[in-house]
Amino acid sequence: MSTVGTLKECVQLPIKDNELVDIVQKAKDWAIMHGAAMRSKSNFSPDTLNFAPFVLVPSSFPRKEFERAIHLQPTINRLMHNVAHDEEFLTTTLADTIKVDEFTGNLFNVYKKVLANGFGQAITLGLLRSDYLAHTFDDNTIRQVEINTVASSFGGISTYMMPLQSYVLRELNQAEKIARMPKNDALAGLCDGMIKAWEIYANPKAVIMFIIEDVSYNICDQRFHEFYIREKCPHIKVLRKTLTQVHDEGKLGLNKELLIGKEEVAVIYFRAGYEPGHYPSHNEWDARYLMECSRAIKCPSIHYHLAGTKKVQQALAVPGVLDRFLNDPEEIKAVTKIFTGLYSLEDNETGNATYEMALKSPEKFVLKPQREGGGNNIYGIDIPSALKKMSRFERSAWILMDLIHPPISRGYMIRPSGPVPPPVVDMVSELGIFGVIIGDVDNIICNYEAGHMLRTKLSTANEGGVAAGLGALDSPYLID
Ligand code: ADP
Ligand code: MG
Repeated sequence: MSTVGTLKECVQLPIKDNELVDIVQKAKDWAIMHGAAMRSKSNFSPDTLNFAPFVLVPSSFPRKEFERAIHLQPTINRLMHNVAHDEEFLTTTLADTIKVDEFTGNLFNVYKKVLANGFGQAITLGLLRSDYLAHTFDDNTIRQVEINTVASSFGGISTYMMPLQSYVLRELNQAEKIARMPKNDALAGLCDGMIKAWEIYANPKAVIMFIIEDVSYNICDQRFHEFYIREKCPHIKVLRKTLTQVHDEGKLGLNKELLIGKEEVAVIYFRAGYEPGHYPSHNEWDARYLMECSRAIKCPSIHYHLAGTKKVQQALAVPGVLDRFLNDPEEIKAVTKIFTGLYSLEDNETGNATYEMALKSPEKFVLKPQREGGGNNIYGIDIPSALKKMSRFERSAWILMDLIHPPISRGYMIRPSGPVPPPVVDMVSELGIFGVIIGDVDNIICNYEAGHMLRTKLSTANEGGVAAGLGALDSPYLID
């Protein structure tokens, strides 16, 4: 990815080799001992943890833009809440996509079936994360990469990144730098949202259920949520179940209560269910439908999940569309400012124009399907051959987006089995802001910003998935 612009680093680089080797080992141990860790994919064992890849000292991020993202989050929450509750908008926007994209089609089928049979629960819980890159071509103002409405991860581990990097700065005798690191209560903010939803459900015996993958590599992040809830509210039991287990063990009671064995479920928190591999058979889709029909408060409900698709993101960027969901012109202006160019590839005049534009200057764009979890996008010069292989019909399941060019910062990326001492590398950072919203179609019961995460990747990598091994956890060092 070509980038211009650099940000001044938090500490003078390079750090001398002997000092670096020492501080890296201390930081790795700090990370493992505080649970900034994951299961190894290459050497999996349920008995051991590796530290999660991290950046040694905090990466610079423009303060003004950080604050812009923080202040905007309640508006983003409300926007997504209103989009999720607009049946006509979701149906029209996704009409072509669901004909081609089987996974989105299956999600939509669940939605249609629930609409036909009536929602078992009007209230939804949104634990969202809006992701941004600063754009060097526009004075480092932020642009939204995407909005996550399902399984928004790393709120747990990210909460520990500021303490980890503060420790490193103190060991480097640079404690004065800590003042520029914003505090981060993502874990508490997100979990308090789940607890609030549990209270709204109002059955003191009911449990919170996490929907998990068959194997959870990002186990610490999930367990942080579970342990927080158990510690703050020991009376709330937390279950962890796969979609397959929900199919095998779940049923509805007389009043649409979701029963897993004898336990009634108050809140369902999806940490899985956002990619096709999580549904190996029809049973898992039946389980999803069962949950949607139930009285349990879902995080997210199916309509929230659909509102988080890339196609909906693109549709929201069409001029005038935000007016449908937000009233305040200032808010509309503020949201419009974070959008970058997003283009439809539908089988019509607009879509054909997008297609021609992508073939003419592919280096300006990224091509995205309706998928979550990283590794699915197509970048720059790879776009024309990918597009040419698709029929006009198939193209409508994709969107095209302007590439954002984030500024470079230099630093040390520390990963399990990585080189010691690590080299200084060029990196770019993606900021995620968490948001919590609870409500039904008519009322919003609570709506707040809930902390942040910073994920940093090599400037040469297209994507920086931490679980995928390309990115590293980080936290911002705010510069003016
Ligand atoms: P996913 O749902 O797989 O996380 P994203 O839209 O977040 O999909 O894209 C994955 C990654 O690709 C992002 O984290 C970012 O690093 C990179 N990326 C996505 N869109 C853009 C863009 N418009 N410009 C630059 N990089 C992008
Ligand atoms: Mg993403």
